[in-house]
Amino acid sequence: MQIGVLGGGQLGRMLALAGYPLGLRFRFFDPLAEAPAGQLAELVVGDYTDEGALARFAEGLSLLTYEFENVPVAAAAWLARRLPVYPPPVALEVAQDRLAEKTFFQGLGIPTPLFYPVQTYSDLQDGLERTGWPAVLKTRRLGYDGKGQKLLRSPADLEAAWEQLGGQPLILEAFVPFERELSILAVRSTSGQVAFYPLVENHHVGGILRKSLAPAPITPARLQHEAEHMARRVLEKLDYVGVLAIELFEVEGTLWANEMAPRVHNSGHWTIEGAETSQFENHLRAVLGLPLGSTAPRGHAAMLNLIGLKPEPARVLEIPGAHLHWYGKEVRPGRKVGHVTLRAGTPRELETGLARLEAVL
Ligand code: AMP
Repeated sequence: MQIGVLGGGQLGRMLALAGYPLGLRFRFFDPLAEAPAGQLAELVVGDYTDEGALARFAEGLSLLTYEFENVPVAAAAWLARRLPVYPPPVALEVAQDRLAEKTFFQGLGIPTPLFYPVQTYSDLQDGLERTGWPAVLKTRRLGYDGKGQKLLRSPADLEAAWEQLGGQPLILEAFVPFERELSILAVRSTSGQVAFYPLVENHHVGGILRKSLAPAPITPARLQHEAEHMARRVLEKLDYVGVLAIELFEVEGTLWANEMAPRVHNSGHWTIEGAETSQFENHLRAVLGLPLGSTAPRGHAAMLNLIGLKPEPARVLEIPGAHLHWYGKEVRPGRKVGHVTLRAGTPRELETGLARLEAVL
């Protein structure tokens, strides 16, 4: 059985690595010939708007999924008329537009930061009266890893932010004084079976995920239930199939949704070694209608992204419990080129390993 994956980045690569033991084969589609998944499987290079290339890609595939949420909805919908596509393209549509996404959350009763659509400079001024200061101005589309957004601390920041982001659809959000950032990964199969991973604590630097701790330390069961309840509503509303990630802010012991990703997620990489079944394997089980695997953690894990640097492998691997993942990408400043997962029996042991790892990186 061959599975098609739109997008050939590291997430696709890790999907393939999880699928080979299940006897699956993969074919990737990416606009870039050097897409990292191409090192392990067939890669069709083409533009997402090129129906000829999409048709060649889809030929003989059993089903299709994606590892990149900015796949044009039209391409996913065109393919969905020819073969099963999971998650449903409507999930892409919601997740690609921050305004649609926050409106969707609101409709499900899921708390979000206060937000306001901005098209013109006067919308921005009106919006700031509602959100107050500080606020965050973001592009509605194509923002990721903190790109396409500006923190507005005071009126002095307005002009520069408008100069940089104005002229495209924007969203203004109240700045959330969160205690920490968490994420929940959920998975739903074609049979409707649902499972949740434990909440993960995420640390960002410059808008890019740097470190995840899993399970999130000192997290009451009540918070886990709240996150699962939110994720379940999203899964059911979208008739979702596959892994879904929701990024959350913890504010005074409650959870607010920031955004969702209709795919496997960076904050779930720890599951490869740190959970009974990885997010990648469970995504494949879900889209194939196979029973989902246990999401139980195996001890305590930390995941560190390798951003713009390639450490000496031996220095990482000599740390007990460390697992190195290299994506086969050229190192460039600010680029995610790999990650390291540390696994330990106790939080104390994890802390010791983490201190060693952070010294190496
Ligand atoms: P995003 O691209 O929306 O995930 O934003 C990237 C990062 O910016 C988040 O992980 C937060 O650390 C921060 N951020 C985004 N929106 C807000 C907000 N409304 N209030 C406070 N911090 C935010």
